[in-house]
Parts: sequence; C-alpha cells; structure tokens
Amino acid sequence: MKKYNFSAGPAILPKSVMQEAGEAAIDFNGMGLSILEISHRSKEFTAVMDEAVSLVQELLGLNDDYEVLFLSGGASSQFFMSAMNLLNENDTAAYINTGTWSKKAIAEARKFGNINVVATSEDENFSYIPKHYEIPGDAKYVHYTSNNTIFGTQFHELPKTDLPLICDMSSDIFSRPLDSSRFGMIYAGAQKNMGPAGTTLVVIRKDMLGKVTRDIPTMLNYETHIKKGSMFNTPPAFPIFVSMLTMRWVKANGGLEGMAKHNEAKAKILYDEIDRNPSFKGVARKEDRSLMNVTFVPVDDGITADFLAACDAAGCSGVKGHRSVGGFRASIYNAMTQEGIQALVDVMKGF
Ligand SMILES: *Cc1c(COP(=O)(O)O)cnc(C)c1O
Repeated sequence: MKKYNFSAGPAILPKSVMQEAGEAAIDFNGMGLSILEISHRSKEFTAVMDEAVSLVQELLGLNDDYEVLFLSGGASSQFFMSAMNLLNENDTAAYINTGTWSKKAIAEARKFGNINVVATSEDENFSYIPKHYEIPGDAKYVHYTSNNTIFGTQFHELPKTDLPLICDMSSDIFSRPLDSSRFGMIYAGAQKNMGPAGTTLVVIRKDMLGKVTRDIPTMLNYETHIKKGSMFNTPPAFPIFVSMLTMRWVKANGGLEGMAKHNEAKAKILYDEIDRNPSFKGVARKEDRSLMNVTFVPVDDGITADFLAACDAAGCSGVKGHRSVGGFRASIYNAMTQEGIQALVDVMKGF
C-alpha cells in the first residue's frame, strides 16, 4: 500500500532521490563500488562534495563572502558551535525565542556569551511569532529559528534589524527564496528538508569569523573545516551525497521559487480544511502559520484515537502531534506531494 510520510523528521524525501540513493548504495556511477565504501578522498566523492557545495551556493544565491560546510553533530551542535566561534565572553547577542529549538539554542549560547532574549512567544505556548522588539545596538548578531517544527509557526518576514542574522533553518531550508545577503550564518540539520540524518549544512559569512580569543577545539572550529573543504576528518559521505541529490531535485523542480509555489499550494489545501471542518482547529496564529509543519487539534478530544487510526488506514503516517502541543501535526516538506495532502484531507472530511 502506498504510504505518505507526514513525519517531522527524519522526514520524507523525493521518491526519485531514494531510488538513485539506493542504486548508488550498490554501484556508484558504474564504478563497481558502493558510494558507502569509496574513499572520501577519491575523485568520485570529491565531485559529490563539490557539486553539493555549488548547489547550495546556487540555490541560496550566495556570493563569495560565504563559506559552505557539511558538518556532523546535527543542528544541535550548531547551538553551541555558533556562539563558541562568534562570541567572546563579554559580547552580546540577541535571540528570539519561538519554541523548543530556540530555547535550546539560547541555553547553549549562554555558555559562551551574554545572551539577550529580545522577544519570546512562550506566553502563548509559542503559537505566534513575536513582531515587536528592540535589539541592543551592541549585539553581534540576531539569532532566530525560521520555522518552528514543533509548534507549527514560521517567520514570513525576516526579523527587522540591520545586524547580521543567524538562522536555524533546519525545517524550512530550500522551501522558499530568501535574501541570503542578510545572513551572517545559516545552519540546518539535513533530516527535515534536505536529506537523511547525519550531516548539517552550515553557511557562514567569512567576516563573522576570527573575532574570538578563546581557544577552540580543532573539530569545533569553523576555520578548520573551511580550510579543509569539510574534509578535515571523514565527512558523513552518504548523507552529503543524498543531500546533493535532493538539491538537484529542488533545482530541477523550479528552484526555491518553484518550491515556494508548490509549498504554498499544498499548505493552503490543508489549512482550508482545518478552517472549514468543525471537528478541527489550528494551533498557530493564522498569519504565522508554517508551510512546513501544520499543527491542529481536535475540537473534541474523543476523536483523537479514531482519527489517527483512520490516518493509518489511509496510508498517512506520522500525523500524531508532538507531546508539547498534542493533537496532530502534518509535516509537509518539499517532497510531500499534493496527492499526499489530498489523502489526509479526505480522512479529515470523514470527521
Ligand atoms: C530537528 C530540529 C533541530 C535539531 O536537529 P538535530 O539535527 O537533530 O540536532 C534543530 N532545530 C530545528 C528547527 C529542528 O527542527
């Protein structure tokens, strides 16, 4: 039976990408060897790394001021690594708290600098994106989470500031066009919208670096990985390869503009049903709704188990909500099709 993967992460990838990844796991490029076993120093793998980097540059429209890295340790490691590399102990940075992942980023950054939380939506269980706040002029950067995977909210405009932005884009990277020149750093764990778990994309503007005095362990220093083209040690080769395939797919399907159109159309179908159907209600404030993670709850708790069973029966997998929100969450990343959305909407119509 055909299944639709609505899981928040590790998440859905395009079928064609999984097909190609599967083939390369047996025989990569006719080498008679698997992508899983070839040397990361081979010319075949170096070509994969080069193409992955150039696809990131092209999709995000990066100029030469930016470095592109594929690291390991997940987005969670970037919570501390960013602050460790960019802030001296007495430096200030501004953070916007829009949910679980922002909170973790704040807690880790506090170990390395003076962290000023300039806005939070915790008062309403992170159901909205704060819009009015003041940012201290001496802040080195403004950190925010563009899409809140758990609560289902998303920034539809960049935070208003002239300071460099640092953004955790784990769950909406490559989902829409962006003005990359506003960013000092972008990072994203691969497993939501870019590839399988195991690698983390880090895009960093060179002028952000070289300003801290602390002694940074070699593996945790961005300069190490920049100097070695993400090959200081063995990189997570297969996740990088599959991320590269996914970026090729994004490019072939209209790039970020194409993704945005497709994502808006998909999300609209689902939100329209949530708003129409008296059995369900949305969690996030309408203007801040995420196009990637759609959170909704039953009006009557009594239907929860039946609804999830009906989802399962229709092949809609992973619709159960995160425990901190309850209800339901449909993650509809780039690779989710309209057909998948329609299958879920058809289940909702039965309630
Ligand atoms: C999943 C997620 C993370 C954590 O990513 P790991 O790669 O598991 O460390 C961080 N931020 C956001 C927005 C996420 O969705």
